[in-house]
Amino acid sequence: MGTESFDVIVVGLGAMGSAAAFHLARDGARVLGIDQFAPPHTMGSSHGESRIIRELYYEHPMYVPLLQRAYTLWEALARDSGTPNLLRTTGGLFMGAETSAVVRGVRRSAHDHGLPCTVLDREALRQQFPQFSVPESFVGVYDPRAGILDPEACVRAHLTLAQHHGATVHTNTRVLNWNETTEGVSVETANGTFKGNRLILAAGAWTNALLGERALPLTLERQTIVWFDPPGSPANYEPERFPVFLGEFSDGQLVYGFPTLGRGWKAAVHYQGESVATADGLDHTADARDIERVRTAVARMFPSLWHARVREAAVCLYTDSPDLRFVVGALPGSLRVIVCSACSGHGFKFASVMGEALAALAMGNSPSFDFTPFDPGRFS
Ligand SMILES: Cc1cc2nc3c(=O)[nH]c(=O)nc-3n(C[C@H](O)[C@H](O)[C@H](O)COP(=O)(O)OP(=O)(O)OC[C@H]3O[C@@H](n4cnc5c(N)ncnc54)[C@H](O)[C@@H]3O)c2cc1C
Repeated sequence: MGTESFDVIVVGLGAMGSAAAFHLARDGARVLGIDQFAPPHTMGSSHGESRIIRELYYEHPMYVPLLQRAYTLWEALARDSGTPNLLRTTGGLFMGAETSAVVRGVRRSAHDHGLPCTVLDREALRQQFPQFSVPESFVGVYDPRAGILDPEACVRAHLTLAQHHGATVHTNTRVLNWNETTEGVSVETANGTFKGNRLILAAGAWTNALLGERALPLTLERQTIVWFDPPGSPANYEPERFPVFLGEFSDGQLVYGFPTLGRGWKAAVHYQGESVATADGLDHTADARDIERVRTAVARMFPSLWHARVREAAVCLYTDSPDLRFVVGALPGSLRVIVCSACSGHGFKFASVMGEALAALAMGNSPSFDFTPFDPGRFS
């Protein structure tokens, strides 16, 4: 082991790395993917049955073209991997006061990109979505393309197809160190040292552990997700009758959730997680306090949740950048190393298009979209 040379070595095969490995292998590159675990796994940021995908992006209109490409690529992945439920369209309801960041942001993205967007006043909200119990000040904006990605299925499909196209994959192999010279890159693991032309670091919450002295200003949040019994008649919370949702309260708290899937009715709080220093040694057990924190927040919209049985809970990590924008591009001062991380709690839906862009960058081509807003050098 260790003598073969690769065009690109991808470290981290979660959401981003698995997508990059797939695009590289499909485009004919000699690619090696390495992960310390066996993805999909529950130790990082890409597990838990569901991720929201939405087109009318409240965070900024600049994400919309990326999302449109991401949808196309997810649909292709579902088809090519024979996984029809990888992406399910349920519609999405985004709620808050007229002046909230969520409602204003959704409307701005719809307006700037000429996309359909239905605004529901409180009475229309009550009539069309009686499952929600929202404050008087709330309105809703409906995104017809919003839906659910199955994160484990997405990672599995990207990895399976990457290998089908010739990628070499080493799981349960931790990268201990990496090095860059004018000749190429080398990656040291307990199982040997591998050489390549370019390196993609897609290590999620472990990014700074791998960057060492070149660490970026990233922070980690420990997040709890909880599966409850549905907070009302189960039929009203099925994917055919209930949308994915996100609500912003006047104190800034953001609460989101999904229709009932196999593991129950899942909901959580966006941001406001406990700050942690490293991903290693993280407590992955959600305790009663973690669960009650989620219940208290989500019950603001679903009062009967106070009596709902908890079926399951899990812990997951956000890796946040200071501006909550992603970090994608050349590592500052490097010609051969590309970093992709800090998806700041909203990156999963972009993984398909990120994989395509990472593959282009690693092969010395220009990605089809402008990634300068995500340049890792913007913090220096
Ligand atoms: C609770 C929760 C809910 C979320 N909800 C949404 C949502 O609804 N919609 C959305 O779009 N996004 C959402 N996100 C964000 C999204 O899931 C993440 O942005 C995305 O999964 C990050 O993917 P990643 O590839 O960067 O990290 P990961 O998937 O964690 O992959 C990193 C990989 O690197 C590997 N690795 C690290 N260090 C090493 C090493 N030294 N050697 C070898 N391998 C290594 C790890 O083992 C891991 O497999 C959510 C995140 C969480 C935690």
